[in-house]
Amino acid sequence: MKYDFAIIGSGIIGLTLAFKLKQKFINSNIIIFEKETNSISHGSGRNSGVLHSGIYYEPGSLRAKLCTRGVKELKEYIKSENLWIDECGKLLLPTSEVSFSNLDNLYDRAKKNGVKIDKIKNKDIEHLEPNVNCQFDYGLYVPFTSVADPNEVSNSLIKNLKKMNINIEYNTKILKIDEKKLITNNSMITAEHIFNCAGLFADEIAKNSNLKFRYSFLPFKGKYWKIKNKNFKLKHLIYPIPDLRYPFLGLHSSHNRYGNFYIGPSSTPVFGREQYNGFFGKSFKENINLFFNFGKKIVFNENRLRSLAMKELSLLTKRGFFNEINKMFKNLKPNELELSNQKVGIRSQIFDPNKKNLVNDFVIINQKHATHVLNAISPAWSASFAFAEHLIDEANL
Ligand SMILES: Cc1cc2nc3c(=O)[nH]c(=O)nc-3n(C[C@H](O)[C@H](O)[C@H](O)COP(=O)(O)OP(=O)(O)OC[C@H]3O[C@@H](n4cnc5c(N)ncnc54)[C@H](O)[C@@H]3O)c2cc1C
Repeated sequence: MKYDFAIIGSGIIGLTLAFKLKQKFINSNIIIFEKETNSISHGSGRNSGVLHSGIYYEPGSLRAKLCTRGVKELKEYIKSENLWIDECGKLLLPTSEVSFSNLDNLYDRAKKNGVKIDKIKNKDIEHLEPNVNCQFDYGLYVPFTSVADPNEVSNSLIKNLKKMNINIEYNTKILKIDEKKLITNNSMITAEHIFNCAGLFADEIAKNSNLKFRYSFLPFKGKYWKIKNKNFKLKHLIYPIPDLRYPFLGLHSSHNRYGNFYIGPSSTPVFGREQYNGFFGKSFKENINLFFNFGKKIVFNENRLRSLAMKELSLLTKRGFFNEINKMFKNLKPNELELSNQKVGIRSQIFDPNKKNLVNDFVIINQKHATHVLNAISPAWSASFAFAEHLIDEANL
């Protein structure tokens, strides 16, 4: 069978891309390949569901441009489809002297990115949220930030794609791309243009397809703790003011439509791509590669990775985790927290050996008949509609 467009991966990027392609090329014939039996097994079904406003990202970066544009469209889509959303807003608190010194920088970034943000006094924060612990004179408030249900969003897109006659072939693993050919585990398909949106495996597919690039893969696991105390409630999302040199936002609160509250995600190095339990994956070769890759960076403290790893190690124990979140929350006891086995995700993070840093932006590489999406880290879920449009524009179709 011959297609106009083939998409590898039915995460949020693959789904919104199919949606946007069909809107632009009405008569095109599009297929999505997915190795799992559903579209929510990985990043797009395992995230915090936060619609990020775009405050954190370097002005002019892809993350800043696509997030600020895409999140508005995602919110409109959610509302037009009558899906669950809590437009709760977000409070950001400094958790240390260093974090406090980043407050003005973050405030300026938000303004430059065109996002409404306010400085808010600690007594006003405590009035709004009696369960938070303000250690400094003021924090930040972002009214736009909201939370939605990522699985519901994916399911709604799948339903609309069906109406547009776009099929998702589940249980079909793509091995590589060869010009216009797509090699699966049991067949070969051709398409005029192929989009590699395979999340945690995008770099591997790109390498198998003879794409040369300098990045290496460096996954970080994010675990969440569930708050068991049903009387502990928060009206807003509560985040720390993060260290903007890293792509991670720090431990924060999140909640879902069922009234469950969580704190997370951690950012622990992990040696397997889909290793949601334990540290090591199924592939021995990959475990060794990632172990040495991380080990080298930690020994040489490349991009301050040793400091990050040490801090994250301390969060692996309940005591360490509790000490950290005590900087932001009060009225919580250690026995009211339970590590969630279900709510855990892995970031498809890449590392740049030339700059010796964790790549802090989306990376998109185009070949003549293929587009590879690397480093679709947060806020790719929030940005997805604009991200999809950007992929189409850059592919020169
Ligand atoms: C812990 C955590 C919390 C996050 N929180 C937020 C948040 O609150 N807000 C936000 O905006 N972003 C958040 N993110 C980021 C966001 O979840 C991701 O950026 C986004 O889901 C990436 O979507 P994707 O489609 O690229 O990847 P995925 O959802 O991982 O989809 C890729 C798909 O490709 C499939 N695939 C892989 N290999 C193959 C193959 N060989 N053949 C066929 N199919 C294949 C996979 O099975 C998968 O379904 C978070 C991420 C994590 C890990």
